Amino acid sequence: MKKKKPDYWLIFSYLEELFPNADTELHFQTPFQLLVAVILSAQTTDKQVNKVTDKLYKTIKQPEDILKMWHKKFEESIKSIWLYKWKAKHIYETSKILVENWWKIPNTEKELIKLPWVGEKTAKVVLYVLYKAPVIAVDTHVHRICNRLWIVKTKTALQTSKLLETEIPNQYRTIAHHCMILFWRYYCTARNPKCENCKLQNNCLYFKKNK
Ligand code: SF4
Repeated sequence: MKKKKPDYWLIFSYLEELFPNADTELHFQTPFQLLVAVILSAQTTDKQVNKVTDKLYKTIKQPEDILKMWHKKFEESIKSIWLYKWKAKHIYETSKILVENWWKIPNTEKELIKLPWVGEKTAKVVLYVLYKAPVIAVDTHVHRICNRLWIVKTKTALQTSKLLETEIPNQYRTIAHHCMILFWRYYCTARNPKCENCKLQNNCLYFKKNK
């Protein structure tokens, strides 16, 4: 089947209608807290991260606060998070680098991915939330939505990420990331998506195949 051009206006106006104030669900007050929360959120739900950081962030606001804390105590405070030992180690190393660099959280992907444990996806989330950069972080869920809506026709999240850089028109990039995250979380779930009232049925390959 030949791929049609997606109706971006329809897709994003619907997503904006569902989530008019789409924003990250991670709790934070300082840029450093956001970076730590995004690192902790790898393979972990935002809800679980918030449970941990709501307590942790009463004392941890800047990188030097982590360095003042006994390492084992820090590990202990995040131990309900998947791979907590690795994440604690890398957050420590990141804190040292940031203290040496006047706490500045880098504002380019190239600089961000030099920080320990920061990959392309983490960097894009930080750039999008902190600096309002028109980038789209692609996880397996965003990858799934983009394929269901035939924005792309790809096999991996990495391929989707590369294509989205050019596929999605500029005017939608500032809202695309959060809208798509919230859409997969609350509507377009992997199993049993809530298709009944979805206005994208006519644009959806999954709906055409399964409903
Ligand atoms: S119709 Fe269903 S599968 Fe398709 S985009 Fe809507 S919720 Fe997702």
